[in-house]
Amino acid sequence: MPLSKEELARYSRQLVIPEVGPAGQEKLKAAKIAVVGAGGLGNLVLSYLAGAGLGEIGVFDSGPVELSNLHRQPLYGTGDIGALKTGLAERRLRELNPQVKINARELMLTADNISAELAPYDYIADCTDNFPTRAAINKACFALGKTYVHGAVFQFEGQLAVFSPRTGPCLECLCPGAGAMENQACAESGVMGPAAGAVASMQAMELLKLALGLETLSGRFAMLDFRHGDFQVTEIKKAPGCPVCGKTGGPGEKFLASVAVDLISPEELKERMGSGSPPRLLDLRYEWERGLCYIKGDAWMDFDALTKDGGGLDRGEDIVLYCKGQSKSKAAFRKLRELGFTRVRVLAGGIDAWAEKIEKGMTRY
Ligand SMILES: [Zn+2]
Repeated sequence: MPLSKEELARYSRQLVIPEVGPAGQEKLKAAKIAVVGAGGLGNLVLSYLAGAGLGEIGVFDSGPVELSNLHRQPLYGTGDIGALKTGLAERRLRELNPQVKINARELMLTADNISAELAPYDYIADCTDNFPTRAAINKACFALGKTYVHGAVFQFEGQLAVFSPRTGPCLECLCPGAGAMENQACAESGVMGPAAGAVASMQAMELLKLALGLETLSGRFAMLDFRHGDFQVTEIKKAPGCPVCGKTGGPGEKFLASVAVDLISPEELKERMGSGSPPRLLDLRYEWERGLCYIKGDAWMDFDALTKDGGGLDRGEDIVLYCKGQSKSKAAFRKLRELGFTRVRVLAGGIDAWAEKIEKGMTRY
């Protein structure tokens, strides 16, 4: 059906983009997306999907608005405290775009009801804040053959992945046993509002690209450290014997929050660097960053070369990795562990912490 004059005007800023155009807009209008969770991630995902002119949006949530939600959930106001999120979200989204059909469902998705609830939708957004629901979404989407976009936030960090049942991998490959994990909801661990907003915006982008038939992040995993400005995208491999997505493939990546990384404090590193047997200290930052500052006695190492095959280093050698913060080093740590390195540690807080605690005159950036 051709777009109305109002639709042409409403969506004109995206219609002019070659990848969208009127044909793409009609694809969006035909698409149905379910958003599980109407909290920090769900708020922005829902707003962007409604604004872009999706055909139908499902909103699943069972809780009321709380005062502590407001710093990251811009769909709600102070006067909404105590009211159910689903009803409020539905009303706000209708105001935003009356042309979109909103199906608000006030219920908790469980293993018993999730497949039936998600079945009518083309794509799913995982905007929950707890492991059991994430695992249930993963299982249901793979059973139903539906691609979904996973997002999670923790303090200054965020992560994002697109999981496709056609190819795998899945959340279980990334995070084995997610369903049995303790709930690390924002209430205990805390979250910066913009971290939720940034991850949600990226989730919305991946969902719109799925509906448009464009290439997505599928099979890759984005780890975002907003505290230190470290953003990594790595490939996720299917875990052999994954109970959800199949039995082929190499070793899986581990989930950001569940990997125990061996850290060394700046104080201990200083002591070790002054000892008779200092560790091999590797700077994983970009070369331009070395022009600003570096730790004496270190050596620069190319991140890609190191994580590809170990960069020619001895697997038993005593190694300390550092970057600006610690995200890049953590990513390298995980790779080196997979490659068989046994004595690797990461400088806690990176060169930022070193400059703060040890070398106070060092250039900060
Ligand atoms: Zn899997």
